[in-house]
Amino acid sequence: MLGKTILENIAKLFTASTAPQGVVIYGIDLGTTYSAVAYMDENGNAQIIPNSENDRITPSVVYFDEDDNVIVGKVAKESAKLDSARSIDFIKRQMSSNWTYTVDGHSYSPEEISAFILKRLAEDAAKTGNHKVQNVVITVPAYFGDKERARTRTAGELAGLNVIEILDEPVAAALNYSINADVKGKNVLVYDLGGGTFDVTVVNFGKNPDKNEISIICTEGNHRLGGKDWDDRIINYYLLQFHLQTGSDMSVPVDPDVMTELRQNAETDKKVLSAKNSVKRKITIEGKKSIVELTREKFEELTADLLNQTLILTDKVIRQAGEKGYPKLDTLILVGGSSRMPQIKEAIAVKFHLTPGQNLIDFDVDEAVAKGAARAGEIKLLSYLVQDKAKKPLNELPPEEQKKIVSQVAGITGKSEKDIYALPDLKKVATKSYGIKVSKSGTEIIRNLIVKQTPVPAAGKEDFVTSKANSRKLNLTVYINDESVPDIALESGEQLGSIVFPLDGTLPAGSPVEVTFTLDEEGALCLTGFDKTKGSKIEAVFHSSGIMTEQEKDAAKVNLSQKNVE
Ligand code: AMP
Repeated sequence: MLGKTILENIAKLFTASTAPQGVVIYGIDLGTTYSAVAYMDENGNAQIIPNSENDRITPSVVYFDEDDNVIVGKVAKESAKLDSARSIDFIKRQMSSNWTYTVDGHSYSPEEISAFILKRLAEDAAKTGNHKVQNVVITVPAYFGDKERARTRTAGELAGLNVIEILDEPVAAALNYSINADVKGKNVLVYDLGGGTFDVTVVNFGKNPDKNEISIICTEGNHRLGGKDWDDRIINYYLLQFHLQTGSDMSVPVDPDVMTELRQNAETDKKVLSAKNSVKRKITIEGKKSIVELTREKFEELTADLLNQTLILTDKVIRQAGEKGYPKLDTLILVGGSSRMPQIKEAIAVKFHLTPGQNLIDFDVDEAVAKGAARAGEIKLLSYLVQDKAKKPLNELPPEEQKKIVSQVAGITGKSEKDIYALPDLKKVATKSYGIKVSKSGTEIIRNLIVKQTPVPAAGKEDFVTSKANSRKLNLTVYINDESVPDIALESGEQLGSIVFPLDGTLPAGSPVEVTFTLDEEGALCLTGFDKTKGSKIEAVFHSSGIMTEQEKDAAKVNLSQKNVE
């Protein structure tokens, strides 16, 4: 069954028009370094929509030119070499921070910069394929918390898009794989090394023949580990070799535009090293020149610790999956452009004792996420139409009733009855832990009521006792964190918010107050406090701070609509 928020989002699509044939939900992979858009064609295949330069992926780079135009993509990346101060890249790494970027006296938030990228993707799709990209599923790393997800949703809204769902990238990748594969009962590990982020996830395709469930079992990630870090190692090596060859002073900072060019050259050379054993680069800084050679062997040595960090996280999820009753992995899917580096494939193959090609899926590394998001969009739309008619899970209806509904939805949408019967149900887990501030042996700590990796919707409940007699209030302070154990130090969490629970002032010390947390599929946390003695109750919904208000969004939308995005 679809969650409430997704149901509401899709229901809105049908208020203006009752013709679902025309409704398409597109998939957008809003990547750290590259982004892509996809849709499901009439034959049930996911297709990438090329951009106006006829490229299938668009660099997630934004450049503000001096005529007030906002350039996105390949040209922005090129322009950044000439004037790096007017360009922004790796914006996805800023989605959780309070960072802003100021150019020509105007400050932009990460949501606004991301909105420019989304706007360009949507406008290009209209130009190149006549696609009206309006309703979208946008993907994010699985470990993104509520704040980053909400901000990604805001970015979509600012770009004028109707964001149906924020979907986990590994689920999208697994869905893409499932389009043409027999996945029933399989456990799949998705190793996703992109441009700026890494995540590794175990996904289970349920074995129940009557249901098609896809569940995230566990996920780990590092949002500061990606292809960029491999590039940085090359840059450092080049600079060191340059200084050794030319004898120049290493403490003098390199001009930012030269650094931008060096960064782009390092990325190019890294890609060359995925195909060749060595690469040569001419480096010119302040009139001094040198030619540096980098072999694949040296590159692998310079970056071995980075690869190792991914393997440590991979071991961790495998261990967690085993503990949760999924000890065997059937298939490994490599996603993200950086997984093209041969050392990644080799290390994974060695780790899993694979012979080449065996159960290792490494096609579509750049496109799997956008394509899977398009598939998720289609699933959501069809599930909505089925649910709207059935009012309960389809398989709970008598067979003839099921057939009638499936054939109606097939008739409206042109999709096959088989696909509609087999619609998968996506199950998520909490990607953060949620706890409450309590006092334990005189020290304030966080007691987690929902621990990360618990399937969502999730709930956690515990009784606490009042510390003093006759209190008139109880402060309930909620924390979000990345720990998997119940009790953690206060400094390990980030405060999400707090509410004051008014008490009637007559309770003795040690009176029980029940605190319940419920977490929905979209990451909204609801807290209920219940005074068990007097029966009074308080309820509040918490979202992370730092998310734009409706007024701020409206102002940003006006500003964005005045910009020419190319
Ligand atoms: P993604 O975020 O999945 O689009 O991944 C982009 C990252 O993949 C960037 O850091 C690229 O430099 C990197 N990448 C793309 N192609 C290759 C390649 N052939 N070899 C190594 N890295 C690559």
